[in-house]
Amino acid sequence: MILPPATLGMLGGGQLGRYFVMSAHRLGYQVIVLDPDPASIAGAAADGQIVAAYDDADALAELARGCDAITCEFENVPAASLALLEQHKPVRPAASAVRVCQDRREEKAFLARADVPVAPNLTLLPHEPLPELPDHLFPAILKTAREGYDGKGQWTIHQASELPAALAASGVPCVLEKRLPLEGEFALTLARSPSGAISALPLVQNWHSGGILDQTRSPANVPALEAEAQRIAEHIIAALDYVGVLTVEFFLVGGQLLVNEMAPRPHNSGHPSIDNAGCSQFELQVRALCDLPLPAKAEVQPAILLNLLGDLWQDGTPDWASALALPGVHLHLYGKGEARTGRKMGHVTVTGRDWPTVEATASQLRALLG
Ligand code: ADP
Ligand code: MG
Repeated sequence: MILPPATLGMLGGGQLGRYFVMSAHRLGYQVIVLDPDPASIAGAAADGQIVAAYDDADALAELARGCDAITCEFENVPAASLALLEQHKPVRPAASAVRVCQDRREEKAFLARADVPVAPNLTLLPHEPLPELPDHLFPAILKTAREGYDGKGQWTIHQASELPAALAASGVPCVLEKRLPLEGEFALTLARSPSGAISALPLVQNWHSGGILDQTRSPANVPALEAEAQRIAEHIIAALDYVGVLTVEFFLVGGQLLVNEMAPRPHNSGHPSIDNAGCSQFELQVRALCDLPLPAKAEVQPAILLNLLGDLWQDGTPDWASALALPGVHLHLYGKGEARTGRKMGHVTVTGRDWPTVEATASQLRALLG
């Protein structure tokens, strides 16, 4: 067990890292962030930041020297860097697990081996002849194998003839995936400690707009789906021998859950847990990293999360005063400098005693924020 006031290392300086810092601080830990951006928002909240590239060997050595355990807030940290850190200090999740989650090809291959249902798909390489493409794959989505997020690195493909141009435009290995008629999107965030204990947040339901998360409802309130999602997520955790926080994104198609993708970290759709659960996804991340006891599954209050994208700042600062005057409104702004279109600047979580109350406040908020 790594007890406070130990120092924890965080690879990545975005909002997820920032909330990890806040949770770690509440428990009496210190945090050092490694991020190439000297103005990173997690670094601003932390006890120190090493400003360097994620593959800078000197910087990684400095982080390992200064910290008792290390984690990450996004999956694009080079797995080789995590493997290097593992030679010196506990790294959770392990390099081997992050390697699977950071490449859609590896992820799909892993899920197939683990017998977890996914959308029909195949791998395509930019400079190679196209394989035989079955008609049932179309319409499809071409996704870059690595580095995609918030719907970036994705192209809609109606028919096979559009593929050569799209692949050439991507210039990198891709996964072609059948576009499915989704009946819903769900996510489950859970944690596993080094001792093997598991704790899950409730299943949440997500709505996306333009590939970016727009709204989340926590809990999703579909007991049968929640049980199935938890069974699949625990199966994945066991197959990956995973330690840390993992989020599994699901598609509901024909009444069945398919796994869309996995994130080796807390997730945007887990943010309601900051305000509606006894232990947030970030405290789960700290507890799993340090092998502290994990909480039993807790009842959560009904909550609706609305993401705040940079677009909202188009006509100046939104009317926060009116938003905050509404009951049960928890405003979260991440402290990012520039409000660019599509950039996640913050979120609002509305909590309340019951769903009608939460829904009424959420509609008022939507009207207010446009
Ligand atoms: P990202 O890494 O950007 O989150 P995802 O693969 O999760 O990439 O895709 C983002 C969103 O695009 C999904 O949440 C979903 O709304 C939509 N989407 C992705 N793949 C499919 C698919 N095969 N069929 C239908 N919608 C999809
Ligand atoms: Mg996704």
